[in-house]
Amino acid sequence: MKLVDLMPVVDTGKCKGCKTCVRVCPVLAVKIEGKVAVVDLDRCRGCADCEQRCPEYAIAMVRRPEPVSVGVNVDELDYQRIRELCLKARFHPEQTVCYCTGTRADEVAGAILLGAKTPEDVSFMTGLRTGCKVECIEPVLRLLEAAGIHPEPVPDGWQWYGRTVTAWEIPEHVKQKYASRGFYFDEDIEILDRVVSAPLQGKE
Ligand code: SF4
Ligand code: SF4
Repeated sequence: MKLVDLMPVVDTGKCKGCKTCVRVCPVLAVKIEGKVAVVDLDRCRGCADCEQRCPEYAIAMVRRPEPVSVGVNVDELDYQRIRELCLKARFHPEQTVCYCTGTRADEVAGAILLGAKTPEDVSFMTGLRTGCKVECIEPVLRLLEAAGIHPEPVPDGWQWYGRTVTAWEIPEHVKQKYASRGFYFDEDIEILDRVVSAPLQGKE
Protein backbone atom coordinates (compact mmCIF):
# COMPACT_ATOMS: atom_id res chain seq x y z
CA MET A 1 0.00 0.00 0.00
CA LYS A 2 1.18 3.51 -0.74
CA LEU A 3 0.10 6.55 1.25
CA VAL A 4 -0.41 9.50 -1.07
CA ASP A 5 0.02 12.55 1.12
CA LEU A 6 1.16 15.16 -1.42
CA MET A 7 -0.62 16.86 -4.27
CA PRO A 8 0.44 19.31 -6.95
CA VAL A 9 -0.91 22.85 -7.12
CA VAL A 10 -0.57 24.69 -10.44
CA ASP A 11 0.19 28.40 -10.45
CA THR A 12 -1.98 29.39 -13.41
CA GLY A 13 -0.15 32.71 -13.64
CA LYS A 14 3.13 30.93 -14.39
CA CYS A 15 1.85 27.94 -16.46
CA LYS A 16 2.48 28.27 -20.20
CA GLY A 17 0.52 25.16 -21.19
CA CYS A 18 3.63 23.42 -22.56
CA LYS A 19 2.29 19.89 -21.71
CA THR A 20 5.52 18.70 -20.10
CA CYS A 21 3.58 17.70 -16.99
CA VAL A 22 1.00 15.90 -19.14
CA ARG A 23 3.73 13.84 -20.82
CA VAL A 24 5.58 12.82 -17.66
CA CYS A 25 2.68 11.92 -15.37
CA PRO A 26 2.73 8.13 -14.77
CA VAL A 27 -1.03 7.96 -14.22
CA LEU A 28 -2.24 10.40 -16.89
CA ALA A 29 -3.65 12.72 -14.24
CA VAL A 30 -2.87 16.02 -15.98
CA LYS A 31 -4.51 17.68 -18.97
CA ILE A 32 -4.48 21.14 -20.46
CA GLU A 33 -7.66 23.14 -20.21
CA GLY A 34 -7.86 26.73 -21.35
CA LYS A 35 -4.06 26.68 -22.01
CA VAL A 36 -3.16 25.79 -18.40
CA ALA A 37 -2.46 22.48 -16.65
CA VAL A 38 -5.27 20.97 -14.62
CA VAL A 39 -4.63 18.01 -12.30
CA ASP A 40 -7.20 15.33 -11.57
CA LEU A 41 -6.45 14.88 -7.87
CA ASP A 42 -8.44 11.64 -7.71
CA ARG A 43 -5.95 10.10 -10.16
CA CYS A 44 -2.77 11.83 -8.91
CA ARG A 45 -0.43 9.59 -6.94
CA GLY A 46 1.74 12.39 -5.57
CA CYS A 47 4.98 11.44 -7.34
CA ALA A 48 6.05 15.09 -7.92
CA ASP A 49 7.31 14.31 -11.42
CA CYS A 50 5.24 17.17 -12.84
CA GLU A 51 6.65 19.57 -10.25
CA GLN A 52 10.23 18.47 -10.93
CA ARG A 53 9.93 18.70 -14.73
CA CYS A 54 7.92 21.90 -15.14
CA PRO A 55 10.19 24.34 -16.99
CA GLU A 56 8.27 27.32 -15.62
CA TYR A 57 8.38 26.24 -11.95
CA ALA A 58 4.61 26.55 -12.04
CA ILE A 59 3.83 23.53 -9.85
CA ALA A 60 4.26 23.20 -6.09
CA MET A 61 3.72 20.00 -4.10
CA VAL A 62 1.69 20.57 -0.93
CA ARG A 63 0.27 18.30 1.78
CA ARG A 64 -3.08 16.75 0.99
CA PRO A 65 -5.77 17.70 3.50
CA GLU A 66 -6.68 14.00 3.62
CA PRO A 67 -4.02 11.45 2.58
CA VAL A 68 -5.18 8.56 0.40
CA SER A 69 -4.11 4.91 0.68
CA VAL A 70 -3.52 3.21 -2.65
CA GLY A 71 -2.96 -0.48 -3.30
CA VAL A 72 -4.39 -3.84 -4.27
CA ASN A 73 -5.19 -6.22 -1.41
CA VAL A 74 -4.04 -9.57 -2.79
CA ASP A 75 -5.62 -11.40 0.16
CA GLU A 76 -9.01 -10.63 -1.37
CA LEU A 77 -8.06 -12.25 -4.68
CA ASP A 78 -7.43 -15.80 -5.94
CA TYR A 79 -3.78 -16.10 -4.91
CA GLN A 80 -3.26 -19.21 -7.04
CA ARG A 81 -4.06 -17.18 -10.18
CA ILE A 82 -1.75 -14.41 -8.98
CA ARG A 83 1.02 -16.92 -8.42
CA GLU A 84 0.54 -18.50 -11.84
CA LEU A 85 0.77 -15.11 -13.54
CA CYS A 86 3.92 -14.20 -11.59
CA LEU A 87 5.55 -17.52 -12.45
CA LYS A 88 4.65 -17.09 -16.11
CA ALA A 89 6.40 -13.70 -16.05
CA ARG A 90 9.24 -15.34 -14.09
CA PHE A 91 8.80 -13.38 -10.89
CA HIS A 92 8.49 -14.74 -7.40
CA PRO A 93 5.13 -13.38 -6.18
CA GLU A 94 6.75 -11.86 -3.09
CA GLN A 95 9.53 -10.22 -5.11
CA THR A 96 9.69 -6.45 -4.84
CA VAL A 97 9.44 -5.00 -8.34
CA CYS A 98 9.20 -1.29 -7.50
CA TYR A 99 11.79 -0.29 -4.95
CA CYS A 100 10.53 3.28 -4.52
CA THR A 101 7.11 2.18 -3.31
CA GLY A 102 7.92 -1.36 -2.15
CA THR A 103 5.31 -2.83 -4.50
CA ARG A 104 5.59 -6.58 -5.03
CA ALA A 105 4.95 -8.72 -8.11
CA ASP A 106 1.83 -10.26 -6.53
CA GLU A 107 0.24 -6.80 -6.18
CA VAL A 108 0.94 -5.98 -9.83
CA ALA A 109 -0.48 -9.36 -10.86
CA GLY A 110 -3.51 -8.64 -8.69
CA ALA A 111 -4.03 -5.30 -10.42
CA ILE A 112 -3.88 -7.04 -13.79
CA LEU A 113 -6.39 -9.67 -12.68
CA LEU A 114 -8.64 -6.79 -11.59
CA GLY A 115 -8.50 -5.30 -15.08
CA ALA A 116 -5.34 -3.20 -15.43
CA LYS A 117 -4.36 -3.10 -19.11
CA THR A 118 -1.49 -0.59 -19.13
CA PRO A 119 1.39 0.50 -16.89
CA GLU A 120 -0.65 3.63 -16.16
CA ASP A 121 -3.53 1.48 -14.90
CA VAL A 122 -1.12 -0.48 -12.69
CA SER A 123 0.42 2.72 -11.34
CA PHE A 124 -3.00 4.16 -10.60
CA MET A 125 -4.16 1.01 -8.77
CA THR A 126 -0.96 0.24 -6.84
CA GLY A 127 1.03 3.48 -6.63
CA LEU A 128 3.98 1.71 -8.29
CA ARG A 129 6.13 3.76 -10.73
CA THR A 130 5.62 6.90 -8.68
CA GLY A 131 9.26 7.08 -7.62
CA CYS A 132 12.04 6.90 -10.21
CA LYS A 133 9.49 5.78 -12.85
CA VAL A 134 12.22 3.91 -14.74
CA GLU A 135 13.08 0.56 -13.11
CA CYS A 136 9.62 -0.89 -12.57
CA ILE A 137 8.28 -0.35 -16.07
CA GLU A 138 9.94 -3.59 -17.15
CA PRO A 139 8.39 -5.90 -14.54
CA VAL A 140 5.02 -4.31 -15.24
CA LEU A 141 5.40 -4.94 -18.97
CA ARG A 142 6.55 -8.52 -18.33
CA LEU A 143 3.54 -9.22 -16.11
CA LEU A 144 1.17 -7.63 -18.63
CA GLU A 145 2.77 -9.70 -21.41
CA ALA A 146 2.32 -12.85 -19.32
CA ALA A 147 -1.39 -11.99 -19.16
CA GLY A 148 -1.46 -11.63 -22.97
CA ILE A 149 -1.56 -7.82 -22.88
CA HIS A 150 0.78 -5.75 -25.06
CA PRO A 151 0.13 -2.07 -24.35
CA GLU A 152 1.12 0.66 -26.75
CA PRO A 153 3.06 3.67 -25.41
CA VAL A 154 0.94 6.72 -24.68
CA PRO A 155 0.99 9.02 -27.74
CA ASP A 156 3.37 11.95 -27.05
CA GLY A 157 4.11 10.45 -23.64
CA TRP A 158 7.61 10.69 -22.23
CA GLN A 159 7.34 7.65 -20.02
CA TRP A 160 9.89 4.97 -20.73
CA TYR A 161 8.45 1.88 -22.38
CA GLY A 162 11.62 -0.13 -22.89
CA ARG A 163 11.69 -3.81 -22.18
CA THR A 164 15.15 -5.38 -21.97
CA VAL A 165 15.96 -8.99 -22.73
CA THR A 166 15.75 -11.34 -19.75
CA ALA A 167 18.13 -14.22 -19.04
CA TRP A 168 15.51 -16.64 -20.41
CA GLU A 169 15.35 -14.86 -23.77
CA ILE A 170 19.04 -14.75 -24.67
CA PRO A 171 19.47 -16.52 -28.03
CA GLU A 172 21.58 -19.67 -28.11
CA HIS A 173 24.16 -18.18 -30.50
CA VAL A 174 24.72 -15.26 -28.08
CA LYS A 175 25.18 -17.68 -25.17
CA GLN A 176 27.75 -19.61 -27.18
CA LYS A 177 29.55 -16.47 -28.31
CA TYR A 178 30.13 -15.39 -24.71
CA ALA A 179 30.59 -18.87 -23.20
CA SER A 180 34.37 -18.59 -23.22
CA ARG A 181 34.35 -15.11 -21.63
CA GLY A 182 33.10 -16.08 -18.21
CA PHE A 183 29.35 -15.80 -18.78
CA TYR A 184 27.19 -18.63 -17.40
CA PHE A 185 23.73 -17.88 -18.76
CA ASP A 186 22.28 -21.37 -18.33
CA GLU A 187 23.55 -21.59 -14.78
CA ASP A 188 22.08 -18.12 -14.10
CA ILE A 189 18.73 -19.29 -15.47
CA GLU A 190 18.82 -22.36 -13.23
CA ILE A 191 19.41 -20.21 -10.13
CA LEU A 192 16.79 -17.66 -11.17
CA ASP A 193 14.23 -20.43 -11.77
CA ARG A 194 14.89 -21.73 -8.26
CA VAL A 195 14.36 -18.22 -6.83
CA VAL A 196 11.15 -17.68 -8.82
CA SER A 197 9.60 -20.98 -7.74
CA ALA A 198 10.77 -20.86 -4.09
CA PRO A 199 8.05 -21.42 -1.45
CA LEU A 200 6.06 -18.38 -0.38
CA GLN A 201 7.25 -16.93 2.91
CA GLY A 202 3.93 -15.46 3.91
CA LYS A 203 1.60 -18.25 2.82
CA GLU A 204 3.35 -21.66 3.04
S1 SF4 B 1 4.90 21.70 -17.27
FE1 SF4 B 1 4.50 23.60 -16.14
S2 SF4 B 1 4.28 25.19 -17.71
FE2 SF4 B 1 4.13 23.22 -18.76
S3 SF4 B 1 1.90 22.83 -18.80
FE3 SF4 B 1 2.68 21.82 -16.96
S4 SF4 B 1 2.42 23.35 -15.31
FE4 SF4 B 1 2.22 24.45 -17.26
S1 SF4 C 1 0.94 11.57 -10.31
FE1 SF4 C 1 2.85 12.73 -10.18
S2 SF4 C 1 3.13 13.64 -12.22
FE2 SF4 C 1 1.00 12.99 -12.05
S3 SF4 C 1 -0.11 14.80 -11.33
FE3 SF4 C 1 0.41 13.62 -9.52
S4 SF4 C 1 2.35 14.45 -8.79
FE4 SF4 C 1 2.08 15.18 -10.90
